[in-house]
Amino acid sequence: MAERHVEIAGAGFSGLTIATALAQRGWSVRVHERAPEVRAFGAGIWLWDNGIRVLNAIGAADEALDGCTEAKVWESWDRTGDLIDRVQFGIGGGSRVFCVVRQQLLMAILHAAERAGVEVCTNSEAVGATADGALKLASGETLKADLVIGADGIRSKVRDSLGLLKRRHVHIDGAIRVLIPRTAEEYETEEGRKIREWWYGSRRLLYTPCSKDVVYLCFTMMARDKEAAEIPLRKEVWARSFPQLKHMIDRVGTDGRYDRFETSRLHRWSKGRVAIMGDAAHSMSPGLGQGGGSSLVSALTLPALIDEMGAIEPALEAWETALRPLAEHTQRWSKITWPLIPWPAWVARRYYAFPLAKGWIAKQRMRPSLHVAKGTEGHRLWVPTRAGV
Ligand SMILES: Cc1cc2nc3c(=O)[nH]c(=O)nc-3n(C[C@H](O)[C@H](O)[C@H](O)COP(=O)(O)OP(=O)(O)OC[C@H]3O[C@@H](n4cnc5c(N)ncnc54)[C@H](O)[C@@H]3O)c2cc1C
Repeated sequence: MAERHVEIAGAGFSGLTIATALAQRGWSVRVHERAPEVRAFGAGIWLWDNGIRVLNAIGAADEALDGCTEAKVWESWDRTGDLIDRVQFGIGGGSRVFCVVRQQLLMAILHAAERAGVEVCTNSEAVGATADGALKLASGETLKADLVIGADGIRSKVRDSLGLLKRRHVHIDGAIRVLIPRTAEEYETEEGRKIREWWYGSRRLLYTPCSKDVVYLCFTMMARDKEAAEIPLRKEVWARSFPQLKHMIDRVGTDGRYDRFETSRLHRWSKGRVAIMGDAAHSMSPGLGQGGGSSLVSALTLPALIDEMGAIEPALEAWETALRPLAEHTQRWSKITWPLIPWPAWVARRYYAFPLAKGWIAKQRMRPSLHVAKGTEGHRLWVPTRAGV
């Protein structure tokens, strides 16, 4: 078969993963990134086994997860210091969770893409696509391909040019994400290795250790809580709610990014020879920490199906049929579980502890992370090459 060619909009986690997977299957691949460089903003990301399997299959897991923290426990605490819930990861057939700095993850996938021969064009903005397989750029160029991918994030221009967006739900809450230096005590103690979350009214502060040197903090609040959502972070505002965490809040610098959570649904994930992928197709609130993992799964499943089926358009159909129910399940459970922002702590505590529901809820939440993506089946479960931190 003659070499096939793909044009991809967006060099984020989704775009670079599908780029790598297609190049490894003999395609010629070009990725267009609007920004002047391929770069992730300063925050951490939780990765579960579903995403790690994909990284392993494309040869990026060792670099992506080098020196990162495997979290064994997640605890949440109310304002009086009482426990709301405690979850242990990686036991009883459950998924493991690793906490990684986003830039490290993105660079690992970029390096895998480069090894596979992917061409990445920066300062190259996509403005739309046509169903017959052409990507339109802001420069005025139109590039023909066997397949076009819109992996251009939550505000996808490729998706919108094809009229594929059905619904965009803007949530009542949002978050500021930052990285701070990790202290020796946070590195050496059992407490410092846990994922921990503190609640104060509808404000939440989530602590996630990522590496020996770095901790990821996520400050969650209602969108109407304007002083809490300001960037740079209003340290005095947050220290007022969490005086016991002032030592952490004081380490926040002037960087930081605020996002209001959004869930999107499409009419279809593809049109003709154009596929929409990752946040562009199924953005979600971060309740399960699965937006990125689901994107990685989606980005490997499509190349694996094309490989198996040969023809592109039937493979696009099969890809959506295989993954859309799982993506919608993940969106739903992301919204209704953590961080339960409008709920008082005592209601959340009862919800988490409700005896009959506990096992069932845990199963629903765990379902995406236990999914074994097509294209990863032949690989063994990745294990760290050096001890976690
Ligand atoms: C608060 C919060 C916490 C989260 N935590 C987690 C977590 O712990 N675990 C997890 O798995 N997920 C998490 N997510 C979700 C995760 O970040 C996303 O699902 C993931 O980044 C989606 O990747 P993507 O490649 O599809 O999109 P993006 O990461 O948005 O990448 C899109 C890329 O396309 C580029 N681009 C945009 N427009 C154009 C254009 N017109 N032309 C060319 N290039 C363009 C952008 O510059 C960017 O590089 C979280 C999300 C939020 C909001």
